[in-house]
Amino acid sequence: MSHDRILLTPGPLTTSLQTKLAMLRDWGSWDAEFNVVTARVRQSLLRIVHGEETHVVVPLQGSGTFSVEAAVATVVPRRGHVLVLDNGAYCKRAARLTTMMDRRCTVMSFPDHEPVSPAALREKLAGDASITHVILIHCETGAGVLNPLAEVAEICAAQGKGLIIDAMSSFAALEIDARKTRFDALIAASGKCLEGVPGMGFVFIRKAVLDGCAGNSQSLAMDLHDQYVYMEKTGQWRFTPPTHVVVALAEAIAQFEAEGGQPARLDRYTRNYETLVSGMGALGFKPFLDPAVQAPIIVTFHAPAHPNYDFKRFYDAAKARGFILYPGKLTQVETFRVGCIGAITPVEIEQAVHAVALALKDLGIPSGAPAAHL
Ligand SMILES: *Cc1c(COP(=O)(O)O)cnc(C)c1O
Repeated sequence: MSHDRILLTPGPLTTSLQTKLAMLRDWGSWDAEFNVVTARVRQSLLRIVHGEETHVVVPLQGSGTFSVEAAVATVVPRRGHVLVLDNGAYCKRAARLTTMMDRRCTVMSFPDHEPVSPAALREKLAGDASITHVILIHCETGAGVLNPLAEVAEICAAQGKGLIIDAMSSFAALEIDARKTRFDALIAASGKCLEGVPGMGFVFIRKAVLDGCAGNSQSLAMDLHDQYVYMEKTGQWRFTPPTHVVVALAEAIAQFEAEGGQPARLDRYTRNYETLVSGMGALGFKPFLDPAVQAPIIVTFHAPAHPNYDFKRFYDAAKARGFILYPGKLTQVETFRVGCIGAITPVEIEQAVHAVALALKDLGIPSGAPAAHL
């Protein structure tokens, strides 16, 4: 097959042809032209969250998790105490890396089909003055739940706690406004809703806490304060930048702005989501989440009850039609996931639903309906 398959995953995502074409040049990391691209990307990123007055943005090489780990190591003092609001796999990853960064970590667990509870957070913070920071995953990509960012931020601000937000799968699609929502750090990456290619993350750090971050990190490569200081001084990345990723991101951001920015992106993803859920519903599939708590980013579906179902064979049959599905990440029930994000429209989603219908047929499964009790 000479053309790319459509990725219905939470990253890497399907990118536009222009974005891919932007990678066909080599750039020197010392070159003034490349530094201009880096500076432009940073300005654009700040504009997306309206953070020009309150925050700086620090890019970092690597996948999104690298930036989450770097944010925790940079923003949380070594004697800090982090509370992770946990309703899924990415929350557990954040807790694990916090512990590995040698920060004291407390996990507050919530069911993976529900948003975390602001009331429970308020009570917890009131009862434990040693907590210095809270980590919230904005859209828990594990199941696809949207967490209550505004409420959590308000509670953290009122109680003087630092808030670290993993907005990896929501940034640029869901509204985040630094003028209204106070956070110490917010993390996202090139290869998610901005529709760039994977390879760099970026962290917004609140100016008021920036100076205090010096010397917190026990890692050289992951020290965002050091990366920031060096970048401000020289215009360059501290170590070899992912040059092709950066220029592709600059191109992807230009398309994002031309499309109409975050509201337009949310609108397209919402239409993708609605097309997906109605099409899959017609095949008998049932989403795992209540639509009221579902973000229009990635949808978890129950596996069909039919005994012929096997994710690997189902995946291969959809792939043969040009569509890449994603396995589920839940431990209690068997599921699979379908992303609504990337450079795709309801047209590709309709085609994906058709591919799923043909995949069911291949496997001899008459309906996507899950077991009756689900
Ligand atoms: C994608 C994602 C990450 C980062 O994952 P990587 O595989 O490191 O890119 C982190 N948090 C959330 C919520 C995500 O969706």
